Amino acid sequence: MSDGGGPSTAVGRAALPLDAPALRAALRGWYAVHRRALPWRDAADPYAIWVSEVMLQQTRAATVEPYFRRWMASFPTVAALAASHEDDVLSAWQGLGYYSRARNLQRAARTIVADHGGVLPRAYDDLAALPGIGPYTAGAIASIAFGARVPAIDGNVRRVVGRLLAARTDVARGAGARAVEVVAAALADGDAPGDVNQALMELGATVCAPRRPACPRCPAAPWCAARAVGDPADFPPRRPRARPRAVAAVAWLVTDPDGRMLVARRASDGLLGGLWEFPLTPPDATLVDVDTLPAGPALSHAFTHIALTVTPVRAQVAVAVGPMRTVEPYVEWRWLNRKMIDGLPVSTLMRKLLGRFDAFG
Ligand code: SF4
Repeated sequence: MSDGGGPSTAVGRAALPLDAPALRAALRGWYAVHRRALPWRDAADPYAIWVSEVMLQQTRAATVEPYFRRWMASFPTVAALAASHEDDVLSAWQGLGYYSRARNLQRAARTIVADHGGVLPRAYDDLAALPGIGPYTAGAIASIAFGARVPAIDGNVRRVVGRLLAARTDVARGAGARAVEVVAAALADGDAPGDVNQALMELGATVCAPRRPACPRCPAAPWCAARAVGDPADFPPRRPRARPRAVAAVAWLVTDPDGRMLVARRASDGLLGGLWEFPLTPPDATLVDVDTLPAGPALSHAFTHIALTVTPVRAQVAVAVGPMRTVEPYVEWRWLNRKMIDGLPVSTLMRKLLGRFDAFG
Protein backbone atom coordinates (compact mmCIF):
# COMPACT_ATOMS: atom_id res chain seq x y z
CA MET A 1 0.00 0.00 0.00
CA SER A 2 1.15 3.52 -0.69
CA ASP A 3 1.30 6.77 1.23
CA GLY A 4 -2.44 7.02 1.66
CA GLY A 5 -2.58 4.01 3.93
CA GLY A 6 -5.41 1.62 3.16
CA PRO A 7 -8.56 -0.04 4.31
CA SER A 8 -8.19 -2.38 7.23
CA THR A 9 -9.58 -5.16 5.06
CA ALA A 10 -6.60 -5.05 2.72
CA VAL A 11 -4.91 -8.42 2.52
CA GLY A 12 -1.84 -9.90 0.91
CA ARG A 13 -1.57 -11.43 -2.51
CA ALA A 14 -0.37 -14.91 -1.53
CA ALA A 15 -3.38 -16.81 -2.80
CA LEU A 16 -4.31 -14.56 -5.70
CA PRO A 17 -6.25 -16.62 -8.25
CA LEU A 18 -5.37 -14.51 -11.30
CA ASP A 19 -2.49 -12.60 -12.90
CA ALA A 20 -3.00 -9.14 -11.38
CA PRO A 21 -0.34 -7.24 -13.40
CA ALA A 22 -1.67 -8.56 -16.71
CA LEU A 23 -5.28 -7.84 -15.82
CA ARG A 24 -4.34 -4.40 -14.50
CA ALA A 25 -2.66 -3.56 -17.80
CA ALA A 26 -5.69 -4.77 -19.75
CA LEU A 27 -8.04 -2.69 -17.59
CA ARG A 28 -5.94 0.44 -17.98
CA GLY A 29 -5.71 0.02 -21.74
CA TRP A 30 -9.43 -0.50 -22.07
CA TYR A 31 -10.28 2.40 -19.77
CA ALA A 32 -8.05 4.81 -21.70
CA VAL A 33 -10.09 4.12 -24.84
CA HIS A 34 -13.58 3.34 -23.64
CA ARG A 35 -14.24 5.49 -20.60
CA ARG A 36 -17.20 7.80 -20.86
CA ALA A 37 -16.55 11.53 -20.97
CA LEU A 38 -18.02 12.72 -17.68
CA PRO A 39 -17.51 16.15 -16.12
CA TRP A 40 -15.71 14.80 -13.03
CA ARG A 41 -13.27 12.67 -15.01
CA ASP A 42 -9.78 14.16 -15.07
CA ALA A 43 -10.78 16.64 -12.38
CA ALA A 44 -7.66 17.71 -10.55
CA ASP A 45 -9.70 18.97 -7.62
CA PRO A 46 -10.11 16.31 -4.88
CA TYR A 47 -13.27 18.10 -3.71
CA ALA A 48 -14.89 17.64 -7.14
CA ILE A 49 -13.94 13.95 -7.11
CA TRP A 50 -15.43 13.57 -3.64
CA VAL A 51 -18.70 15.27 -4.65
CA SER A 52 -19.00 13.11 -7.76
CA GLU A 53 -18.35 9.89 -5.83
CA VAL A 54 -21.02 10.72 -3.27
CA MET A 55 -23.55 11.68 -5.94
CA LEU A 56 -22.85 8.49 -7.90
CA GLN A 57 -23.79 6.25 -4.98
CA GLN A 58 -27.06 4.56 -5.92
CA THR A 59 -27.43 6.96 -8.86
CA ARG A 60 -26.64 6.65 -12.56
CA ALA A 61 -23.98 8.87 -14.12
CA ALA A 62 -26.42 10.40 -16.62
CA THR A 63 -28.66 11.52 -13.74
CA VAL A 64 -25.72 12.85 -11.74
CA GLU A 65 -24.20 15.00 -14.52
CA PRO A 66 -26.50 18.07 -14.31
CA TYR A 67 -26.58 17.89 -10.51
CA PHE A 68 -22.79 17.80 -10.40
CA ARG A 69 -22.46 20.84 -12.67
CA ARG A 70 -24.98 22.86 -10.67
CA TRP A 71 -23.45 21.81 -7.35
CA MET A 72 -19.95 22.83 -8.38
CA ALA A 73 -21.29 26.19 -9.59
CA SER A 74 -23.15 26.77 -6.31
CA PHE A 75 -20.53 25.36 -3.90
CA PRO A 76 -17.22 25.53 -5.79
CA THR A 77 -15.00 24.81 -2.78
CA VAL A 78 -15.04 22.95 0.53
CA ALA A 79 -15.17 26.32 2.30
CA ALA A 80 -18.15 27.49 0.23
CA LEU A 81 -20.05 24.30 1.03
CA ALA A 82 -19.20 24.55 4.72
CA ALA A 83 -20.47 28.13 4.87
CA SER A 84 -23.75 27.49 3.04
CA HIS A 85 -27.21 27.27 4.56
CA GLU A 86 -28.53 23.71 4.86
CA ASP A 87 -31.69 24.66 2.92
CA ASP A 88 -29.54 25.66 -0.07
CA VAL A 89 -27.56 22.42 0.14
CA LEU A 90 -30.72 20.31 0.25
CA SER A 91 -32.29 22.34 -2.58
CA ALA A 92 -29.26 21.61 -4.76
CA TRP A 93 -29.71 17.90 -3.98
CA GLN A 94 -33.45 17.94 -4.57
CA GLY A 95 -34.50 14.93 -6.67
CA LEU A 96 -31.29 12.91 -6.16
CA GLY A 97 -32.72 11.13 -3.11
CA TYR A 98 -30.87 9.71 -0.11
CA TYR A 99 -30.61 13.20 1.35
CA SER A 100 -28.32 12.11 4.16
CA ARG A 101 -25.60 12.14 1.51
CA ALA A 102 -26.01 15.91 1.05
CA ARG A 103 -26.16 16.60 4.77
CA ASN A 104 -23.06 14.48 5.36
CA LEU A 105 -21.20 16.26 2.57
CA GLN A 106 -21.78 19.53 4.35
CA ARG A 107 -20.97 18.12 7.78
CA ALA A 108 -17.72 16.71 6.40
CA ALA A 109 -16.92 20.04 4.70
CA ARG A 110 -17.31 21.78 8.05
CA THR A 111 -15.03 19.20 9.69
CA ILE A 112 -12.44 19.71 6.94
CA VAL A 113 -12.53 23.47 7.49
CA ALA A 114 -12.28 23.05 11.29
CA ASP A 115 -9.69 20.26 11.45
CA HIS A 116 -7.81 20.22 8.13
CA GLY A 117 -7.49 23.89 7.19
CA GLY A 118 -10.17 23.55 4.52
CA VAL A 119 -8.09 21.04 2.52
CA LEU A 120 -9.32 17.50 1.91
CA PRO A 121 -6.96 15.12 3.76
CA ARG A 122 -4.87 12.77 1.61
CA ALA A 123 -4.66 9.74 3.90
CA TYR A 124 -7.24 7.00 3.57
CA ASP A 125 -7.81 6.79 7.33
CA ASP A 126 -8.38 10.56 7.64
CA LEU A 127 -10.83 10.47 4.74
CA ALA A 128 -12.67 7.48 6.19
CA ALA A 129 -13.07 9.34 9.50
CA LEU A 130 -15.16 12.09 7.87
CA PRO A 131 -18.98 12.01 8.06
CA GLY A 132 -20.53 10.02 5.24
CA ILE A 133 -17.23 8.71 3.86
CA GLY A 134 -17.08 4.92 4.07
CA PRO A 135 -14.44 2.51 2.78
CA TYR A 136 -15.59 2.82 -0.83
CA THR A 137 -15.60 6.62 -0.99
CA ALA A 138 -12.34 6.90 0.96
CA GLY A 139 -10.72 4.43 -1.46
CA ALA A 140 -12.09 6.25 -4.50
CA ILE A 141 -10.89 9.69 -3.35
CA ALA A 142 -7.50 8.42 -2.13
CA SER A 143 -6.79 6.51 -5.34
CA ILE A 144 -8.26 8.90 -7.93
CA ALA A 145 -7.27 12.22 -6.35
CA PHE A 146 -4.04 11.24 -4.59
CA GLY A 147 -2.80 8.10 -6.35
CA ALA A 148 -2.96 5.92 -3.24
CA ARG A 149 -2.81 2.22 -4.03
CA VAL A 150 -6.04 1.31 -2.31
CA PRO A 151 -9.12 -0.39 -3.76
CA ALA A 152 -12.53 1.25 -4.17
CA ILE A 153 -15.17 -1.45 -4.00
CA ASP A 154 -18.71 -0.44 -4.90
CA GLY A 155 -21.55 -2.70 -6.03
CA ASN A 156 -20.32 -2.73 -9.63
CA VAL A 157 -16.79 -3.69 -8.64
CA ARG A 158 -18.11 -6.38 -6.32
CA ARG A 159 -20.08 -7.92 -9.17
CA VAL A 160 -17.22 -7.73 -11.72
CA VAL A 161 -14.65 -9.23 -9.37
CA GLY A 162 -17.20 -11.75 -8.11
CA ARG A 163 -17.54 -12.92 -11.71
CA LEU A 164 -13.81 -12.98 -12.30
CA LEU A 165 -13.69 -15.38 -9.35
CA ALA A 166 -16.92 -17.24 -10.28
CA ALA A 167 -17.96 -16.57 -6.70
CA ARG A 168 -20.73 -18.89 -5.53
CA THR A 169 -21.27 -17.16 -2.20
CA ASP A 170 -22.51 -13.69 -1.25
CA VAL A 171 -19.76 -11.20 -2.18
CA ALA A 172 -21.14 -8.48 0.11
CA ARG A 173 -20.15 -10.24 3.33
CA GLY A 174 -17.98 -12.90 4.89
CA ALA A 175 -15.56 -15.01 2.87
CA GLY A 176 -17.04 -13.85 -0.45
CA ALA A 177 -16.43 -10.20 0.39
CA ARG A 178 -12.90 -10.91 1.56
CA ALA A 179 -12.11 -12.79 -1.66
CA VAL A 180 -13.23 -9.75 -3.68
CA GLU A 181 -11.15 -7.44 -1.47
CA VAL A 182 -8.03 -9.57 -2.06
CA VAL A 183 -8.33 -9.21 -5.83
CA ALA A 184 -9.39 -5.54 -5.82
CA ALA A 185 -6.50 -4.67 -3.48
CA ALA A 186 -4.01 -6.49 -5.71
CA LEU A 187 -5.29 -4.75 -8.82
CA ALA A 188 -5.00 -1.33 -7.14
CA ASP A 189 -1.49 -2.11 -5.91
CA GLY A 190 0.34 -0.80 -8.99
CA ASP A 191 0.66 2.22 -11.25
CA ALA A 192 -2.37 4.49 -11.79
CA PRO A 193 -4.56 2.89 -9.11
CA GLY A 194 -7.26 5.52 -9.68
CA ASP A 195 -7.57 4.51 -13.35
CA VAL A 196 -7.65 0.81 -12.44
CA ASN A 197 -10.37 1.36 -9.87
CA GLN A 198 -12.38 3.49 -12.27
CA ALA A 199 -11.90 0.89 -15.01
CA LEU A 200 -13.49 -1.75 -12.78
CA MET A 201 -16.38 0.59 -11.92
CA GLU A 202 -16.83 1.54 -15.58
CA LEU A 203 -16.73 -2.10 -16.63
CA GLY A 204 -19.52 -2.87 -14.19
CA ALA A 205 -21.56 0.13 -15.35
CA THR A 206 -21.19 -0.35 -19.11
CA VAL A 207 -20.13 -3.93 -19.96
CA CYS A 208 -20.49 -6.39 -17.08
CA ALA A 209 -24.18 -5.64 -16.56
CA PRO A 210 -26.10 -7.47 -13.84
CA ARG A 211 -28.31 -9.53 -16.17
CA ARG A 212 -26.63 -9.42 -19.59
CA PRO A 213 -22.86 -9.05 -19.35
CA ALA A 214 -21.34 -8.22 -22.76
CA CYS A 215 -18.43 -10.64 -22.43
CA PRO A 216 -17.20 -10.40 -26.05
CA ARG A 217 -16.44 -6.69 -25.40
CA CYS A 218 -14.79 -7.26 -22.03
CA PRO A 219 -11.07 -6.67 -21.49
CA ALA A 220 -11.15 -8.98 -18.46
CA ALA A 221 -12.62 -11.93 -20.35
CA PRO A 222 -9.36 -13.93 -20.48
CA TRP A 223 -9.24 -13.92 -16.68
CA CYS A 224 -12.95 -14.44 -16.02
CA ALA A 225 -13.80 -17.71 -14.32
CA ALA A 226 -17.57 -17.10 -14.53
CA ARG A 227 -17.38 -16.81 -18.29
CA ALA A 228 -15.31 -19.97 -18.45
CA VAL A 229 -17.69 -22.11 -16.42
CA GLY A 230 -21.02 -21.17 -17.96
CA ASP A 231 -23.58 -18.37 -17.86
CA PRO A 232 -21.70 -15.50 -16.18
CA ALA A 233 -24.96 -13.76 -15.26
CA ASP A 234 -25.45 -16.46 -12.63
CA PHE A 235 -22.46 -15.12 -10.71
CA PRO A 236 -22.22 -13.96 -8.00
CA PRO A 237 -25.46 -15.23 -6.43
CA ARG A 238 -28.02 -12.48 -5.86
CA ARG A 239 -29.28 -11.79 -2.41
CA PRO A 240 -33.06 -11.89 -2.11
CA ARG A 241 -34.39 -8.39 -1.54
CA ALA A 242 -36.43 -7.71 1.57
CA ARG A 243 -39.98 -6.65 0.75
CA PRO A 244 -40.55 -2.97 1.54
CA ARG A 245 -42.71 -2.38 4.61
CA ALA A 246 -46.18 -1.02 3.79
CA VAL A 247 -46.89 2.27 5.60
CA ALA A 248 -50.07 4.37 5.32
CA ALA A 249 -50.22 8.10 6.09
CA VAL A 250 -52.42 11.14 5.65
CA ALA A 251 -50.98 14.29 4.04
CA TRP A 252 -52.55 17.51 5.36
CA LEU A 253 -53.08 20.26 2.78
CA VAL A 254 -54.08 22.93 5.27
CA THR A 255 -54.75 26.53 4.20
CA ASP A 256 -55.56 29.71 6.09
CA PRO A 257 -58.07 32.36 4.89
CA ASP A 258 -55.28 34.10 2.92
CA GLY A 259 -54.52 30.94 0.96
CA ARG A 260 -51.23 30.31 2.72
CA MET A 261 -50.31 26.67 3.29
CA LEU A 262 -49.03 24.95 6.39
CA VAL A 263 -45.65 23.29 5.76
CA ALA A 264 -43.31 21.58 8.16
CA ARG A 265 -39.59 20.79 8.16
CA ARG A 266 -38.41 17.33 9.13
CA ALA A 267 -35.68 16.91 11.71
CA SER A 268 -32.24 16.75 10.11
CA ASP A 269 -31.65 13.08 10.88
CA GLY A 270 -33.77 10.34 9.40
CA LEU A 271 -35.72 9.79 6.20
CA LEU A 272 -35.92 12.98 4.08
CA GLY A 273 -34.23 14.83 6.94
CA GLY A 274 -34.25 18.63 6.69
CA LEU A 275 -36.82 18.74 3.87
CA TRP A 276 -40.11 20.65 3.93
CA GLU A 277 -43.46 19.08 3.19
CA PHE A 278 -47.18 19.12 3.86
CA PRO A 279 -47.27 17.39 7.23
CA LEU A 280 -47.87 13.66 7.23
CA THR A 281 -49.57 11.86 10.11
CA PRO A 282 -50.75 8.32 10.78
CA PRO A 283 -54.21 7.73 9.28
CA ASP A 284 -56.02 7.96 12.61
CA ALA A 285 -54.28 11.13 13.87
CA THR A 286 -55.62 14.68 13.80
CA LEU A 287 -53.45 17.63 12.86
CA VAL A 288 -55.91 20.54 13.03
CA ASP A 289 -59.28 20.53 14.69
CA VAL A 290 -61.47 21.28 11.67
CA ASP A 291 -63.40 19.15 9.20
CA THR A 292 -61.41 17.76 6.31
CA LEU A 293 -62.27 17.12 2.68
CA PRO A 294 -60.67 14.46 0.51
CA ALA A 295 -58.07 15.76 -1.92
CA GLY A 296 -58.20 13.08 -4.58
CA PRO A 297 -57.06 9.46 -4.62
CA ALA A 298 -54.15 8.14 -2.58
CA LEU A 299 -50.59 8.53 -3.85
CA SER A 300 -47.99 5.78 -3.74
CA HIS A 301 -44.36 6.52 -3.10
CA ALA A 302 -41.56 3.97 -2.85
CA PHE A 303 -38.54 4.28 -0.63
CA THR A 304 -35.91 1.56 -0.40
CA HIS A 305 -37.45 -0.06 2.67
CA ILE A 306 -40.90 1.50 2.75
CA ALA A 307 -43.87 1.38 0.38
CA LEU A 308 -45.76 4.52 1.41
CA THR A 309 -49.41 5.14 0.60
CA VAL A 310 -50.46 8.72 1.25
CA THR A 311 -54.07 9.89 1.38
CA PRO A 312 -54.23 13.68 0.90
CA VAL A 313 -56.90 15.67 2.74
CA ARG A 314 -57.76 19.36 2.58
CA ALA A 315 -58.62 21.52 5.54
CA GLN A 316 -59.11 25.25 5.98
CA VAL A 317 -58.50 26.87 9.34
CA ALA A 318 -59.87 30.22 10.47
CA VAL A 319 -56.58 31.34 12.02
CA ALA A 320 -53.03 30.37 11.03
CA VAL A 321 -51.91 28.92 14.34
CA GLY A 322 -50.08 25.76 13.32
CA PRO A 323 -50.67 22.21 14.48
CA MET A 324 -52.56 21.31 17.63
CA ARG A 325 -49.73 19.26 19.04
CA THR A 326 -46.15 18.18 18.56
CA VAL A 327 -45.91 16.04 15.46
CA GLU A 328 -42.82 13.96 14.88
CA PRO A 329 -40.55 14.19 12.97
CA TYR A 330 -41.24 17.89 12.35
CA VAL A 331 -39.19 20.56 14.06
CA GLU A 332 -40.36 23.76 12.35
CA TRP A 333 -43.67 25.02 10.97
CA ARG A 334 -44.47 27.85 8.54
CA TRP A 335 -47.47 29.32 6.75
CA LEU A 336 -46.31 30.10 3.23
CA ASN A 337 -47.77 31.02 -0.12
CA ARG A 338 -47.22 28.77 -3.12
CA LYS A 339 -44.30 30.76 -4.53
CA MET A 340 -42.41 30.69 -1.24
CA ILE A 341 -42.77 26.91 -1.05
CA ASP A 342 -41.08 26.65 -4.44
CA GLY A 343 -37.98 28.16 -2.84
CA LEU A 344 -37.72 25.44 -0.20
CA PRO A 345 -35.99 22.08 -0.43
CA VAL A 346 -38.77 19.52 -0.81
CA SER A 347 -38.95 15.81 -1.58
CA THR A 348 -40.29 14.16 -4.71
CA LEU A 349 -43.30 13.08 -2.66
CA MET A 350 -43.96 16.72 -1.78
CA ARG A 351 -43.73 17.66 -5.47
CA LYS A 352 -46.47 15.13 -6.16
CA LEU A 353 -48.59 16.58 -3.35
CA LEU A 354 -48.04 20.11 -4.61
CA GLY A 355 -49.30 18.96 -8.00
CA ARG A 356 -52.39 17.66 -6.28
CA PHE A 357 -52.81 20.93 -4.42
CA ASP A 358 -52.38 22.94 -7.63
CA ALA A 359 -55.08 20.87 -9.28
CA PHE A 360 -57.49 22.05 -6.62
CA GLY A 361 -56.44 25.64 -7.24
S1 SF4 B 1 -16.05 -11.67 -19.13
FE1 SF4 B 1 -18.21 -11.21 -18.91
S2 SF4 B 1 -18.78 -11.84 -16.84
FE2 SF4 B 1 -16.54 -11.77 -16.94
S3 SF4 B 1 -16.02 -9.73 -16.16
FE3 SF4 B 1 -16.18 -9.57 -18.37
S4 SF4 B 1 -18.31 -8.96 -18.83
FE4 SF4 B 1 -18.22 -9.69 -16.69
